[in-house]
Amino acid sequence: MTANPGLLIDLQKITANTRVIVQKCASHGINVAAVTKAVCGDPKVGRAMLEGGAAALADARIQNIKRLRQAGVTEPVMLLRSPMLSEIEDVVKYSSLSLNSEPEVMDRLSECALDYATRHEVIIMIDVGEIREGILPADIFKTAEQIKALKGIRVIGAGTNLACYSGVRPTPKNMNLLLETARELEGILGCNLRIISGGNSSGLEMINKGSVPQGINQFRIGESILLGRYISNGEPIGGTNQDAFILTAELIEMKEKPSLPMGEVGKNVFGEYAENNELQLHYRGIAALGRQDVPPDSILPLGLRNNIHIDVIGATSDHTVLDFGEETRTFGVGSEIRFNLDYPGLLAAMTSPYVKKKYLE
Ligand SMILES: *Cc1c(COP(=O)(O)O)cnc(C)c1O
Repeated sequence: MTANPGLLIDLQKITANTRVIVQKCASHGINVAAVTKAVCGDPKVGRAMLEGGAAALADARIQNIKRLRQAGVTEPVMLLRSPMLSEIEDVVKYSSLSLNSEPEVMDRLSECALDYATRHEVIIMIDVGEIREGILPADIFKTAEQIKALKGIRVIGAGTNLACYSGVRPTPKNMNLLLETARELEGILGCNLRIISGGNSSGLEMINKGSVPQGINQFRIGESILLGRYISNGEPIGGTNQDAFILTAELIEMKEKPSLPMGEVGKNVFGEYAENNELQLHYRGIAALGRQDVPPDSILPLGLRNNIHIDVIGATSDHTVLDFGEETRTFGVGSEIRFNLDYPGLLAAMTSPYVKKKYLE
């Protein structure tokens, strides 16, 4: 495989970012389950997170959890997405606990765990407004009654997820609704819930303000650890690195060309109209990188060598067009360009088989 496009993964920076966030949370009595789903359950990244003090790992896909286990990770790993009925056995075998909202799924988990002479731990998801997964607080009694008798599962917590699908922000109000619903659940099941899991990276600003209600004791954090940013506004988190992941791509063409296409112009292959800026004569570079690797609006060139500013103009499947302005002696065919990534960019680069992953240990 060729070296480019490449994704440079700095494991020490990931450990350092985890440490900052773990300490921030610990000072408010909150522990961190570090989420590896954006890195496909990469065991090196998972280990870096554990080294930074994460209490557990979490991932949305059982294949990723299996990957972590096969690499020898023995710490608790939580399955974030409600199990598919077709993967129940793997869930019981590979994950320590899973987030759940469907009695039918919990029934099957229970049966399977009993077959394995074990008990599967479960966090019940409550939907406090995001309208993605979870039981509505009004329905908690009915659900709790349905799962009460299941012998193969142990309900150890309640949780919620916010700011992902609908963008509902975590607030003291919805966190308190989670806590009240959890208390109700404890009453019906007749047990204490050890974990109250308040949400994802979006909770960090609330944690900073100290406004997370007493009783919430876990957050499941991925993006903010990996990219070192708050997710509501993209601002850097003090003390963290924003460049734990760097994408590299190589220039395969560099020519002075006009900025206006020549000829009769229609929509491009992606159903969009290409540039229609004012006519300019600029150096345009083509990177051997395309939408099969990352979406063009998810990458930010770090081209400030010799004060050359580089803009991403657009991309097709395998070509990304870059604008180098009016003058370039620094970059030419063969130059390696480095890019910062946002979250969709990181997801894409990690999942693209064309992007070679390289670790800085
Ligand atoms: C993805 C996910 C997380 C982590 O979200 P980040 O924004 O990466 O912190 C937490 N919980 C659930 C249920 C998720 O699906």
